[in-house]
Formats: sequence, structure tokens, C-alpha cells
Amino acid sequence: MMSDTPLRLASRVGAISPSPTMAVMAEAMRLRAAGEDVVDFSAGQPDFDTPEIPSRAGIAAIESGYTRYTPNPGAPELRAAVAAAYRRDFGLEFGPANALITSGGKHALTGVFLATCEAGDEVVIPTPFWPTFPEQARIAGAEPILAPADAATNFRPTRAVVEPHVTDRTRVILLNVPGNPSGVVLDPGELDALAALASEAGAVLLWDDTYSRLTFEPAPEGAYRRMQEILGPRFVIAGSSSKTWAMTGWRVGWALGPEELIRGAAALQSQMTSNACSISQKAALAALEADPAEFQWMVRAFAARGRRMREGLLDIPGVRCGAPDGGFYLFPDFRDRLGPGEGSRSLAEALLDRERVATVPGVAFGHDTHLRLSFATSEARIEEGLARLRRFFAV
Ligand code: GLU
Repeated sequence: MMSDTPLRLASRVGAISPSPTMAVMAEAMRLRAAGEDVVDFSAGQPDFDTPEIPSRAGIAAIESGYTRYTPNPGAPELRAAVAAAYRRDFGLEFGPANALITSGGKHALTGVFLATCEAGDEVVIPTPFWPTFPEQARIAGAEPILAPADAATNFRPTRAVVEPHVTDRTRVILLNVPGNPSGVVLDPGELDALAALASEAGAVLLWDDTYSRLTFEPAPEGAYRRMQEILGPRFVIAGSSSKTWAMTGWRVGWALGPEELIRGAAALQSQMTSNACSISQKAALAALEADPAEFQWMVRAFAARGRRMREGLLDIPGVRCGAPDGGFYLFPDFRDRLGPGEGSRSLAEALLDRERVATVPGVAFGHDTHLRLSFATSEARIEEGLARLRRFFAV
């Protein structure tokens, strides 16, 4: 006879919310599969196919039988290539032993948080924030502390924003530039000031640089190198192949940091996932070693699409929207178009119901009068979506 004792789940299951970005994306996909004509501005992934250079390397990996375990922290040549790419692109001093290859950027964050935080620690996260950051801190037992940035500065996560939230329990200060969803990049002086703050607080400055190779202006010469000089082993990076090379499904990311942190995170990973997919590691290696100019067409396309989408949004009366410095999101403010008591969730739901336009409610990023719109979609779909938004707000 089947036992009627209820299944008891761990409290952490209830404490962690599922990813809202992934949830909206899944709903848009479900509607499309059911034959609905959805304009998907939710998807945080390039609409482009993975370029030939990484794709061919993946095919070659399968054909040559590179389909077994790699060392848990990643293939040695990929660890070396990640370190070399950060020297080439940002002047940073990392060697292969400072690089851990993970199953995507989220997994790199997991490794860093688990290796640095424990119960009682605090992680300072400027807002608006990618919804995964606070949940990752919680998974590691730490408390996420939100530091609201100002819409008037396009949400620059500066020292002035972060400092009031730093305490003697601060273990990690999170920096996500270009920001998801704001698209903002900090100036060299602002980066120096943040690095100095983290150094004074004895905290790790964790740079999630997922969109750092998708900036519309070149990275300021030497700015990140200076942060590393200021912070030494407290400068840690979590990065990803997903957005730069349209490789979201391949799941390859990395963490860069001091050897002891990387060794610790590698030990955790060895018990959780072993290594990132061997085939995907070969694809990421080819992408990292290729001339970055090979992929600049995607960045140019995102920049043009972002300009067009922002222009279209600003044409809607009462809508405000900052200009992104990189990435592929806009985070417009609809406060003047919301009904009494209405928040971003009901606005996003109404847009999806009435116009079949998928967006992510700003409340998931800490700002309930905003929506996040991704412009990683074709010009034609952007025009169609803008036409639907105009119609929706004309009512
Ligand atoms: N990072 C992307 C986003 O913000 C993909 C979904 C996710 O991983 O959250 O939409």
C-alpha cells in the first residue's frame, strides 16, 4: 500500500524563486508553438545562429571523438584561452590556473558564491538587477542587499549607490556592466571608485561581464586592469560564451579569480557536474581564439536595433527610456502610462494577452514601473512589436 506520509522538501526549495526571464521566454515559446503570432521581446538571447567558427569546431569535436570527460575545471587549452582573451580584450593578468570552465555563466556565479559566501554574509546588488543574482546569493546562504540606482543616471551602479549598503558583513559587491537590463557601462573613474570601495570593505568585487564584448564603444583602455591592481585577489569575474557568440544552448561559461577560489569552486563543481560539455568547450575555444573582428557584425546589428527600438518607444507619449551602452536590452519606464494600482506584471500580462508582445515585468529586476524589452530580434519583428505597442497605448 502506498504510504500517505507527505513528501517533505527542503526549505531551500521554497526560498528560491524560479527564473522569471526563463519563465516569460517559455510562455512565449508555448504560445508560438500553439500557432500564436508572438513578438518576443523577452528573450535574453541572440536571434542569430551560432557563427560558423564555433559551430564547425563543435562538429569537429564530435567527429574526432572528443566526447569524453575533460578535467573537471575545464580543458587546459580552454582555461589558457580564457585567460589570454581577457589579457587581449581588457589587459587583465590571469593565467590558466585562474580560470574555471563552467556549464554557462549562471554556473560560474554559483561556483563563486558558494566558494566565497556563507550564512550571515551579505551580497550587495545594485538595482535594477538580473533576477538570478539575489537567488544565487541565497543559494549560498548569504543575504542579498539591494542598492537602488537612479533612473536619472540610467541606473549607474556607482560608489555613491553602493556605499550606503556596505557593512562589515559585506562579502561580495556585484558589478554587472554592461548591465542587464539597463545596458549601462561605467566610466574608468567610476570603476576605480567602486574597486576602492570593495578593497576598503575587504569584499570581493564580482564583475559579471556577460555583455562586455557587446559594447557599442570600445572598452576604456586599462580601466579593468586598474580595478585588478586595486583589488588584487578580490577581483573576480563570471563570464559566458552565450551572448557574445550566440551560444546560449551550448552552456559554456567561466570564472576568473585567485587560484585558491578557483580550486575551491572546481572542487565543488567536480562533485556537482564534473566538467562542462567537452564538445561545447571546443566550440568556445575556437570562438575565444578567433579575431574578435569576426563577430563585430552582431554588435553593430544590436547597436542599430537598440537605437531603433528606443526611438520607437520614445514616440509613445509618456514613455521614458535611457540609451544602452551595450548588451541587447532596454528598460523603459511606463509609470505615466500605468493605471491606478497597476504594476509591471499586469502591464506585461495585458501586452501579451491583447497584443501578443512578450516582455519581462520590471518588478523582477527591482523596478515595478518598468518593463524589460530585448532587442535581440530582427528589425522586422522590432517594427511589428513597436506597431503593436503604439496600438496598445493609443487605446
Ligand atoms: N540571461 C538572459 C536574460 O536575462 C537569459 C535568461 C536567463 O538566464 O535569465 O534574459
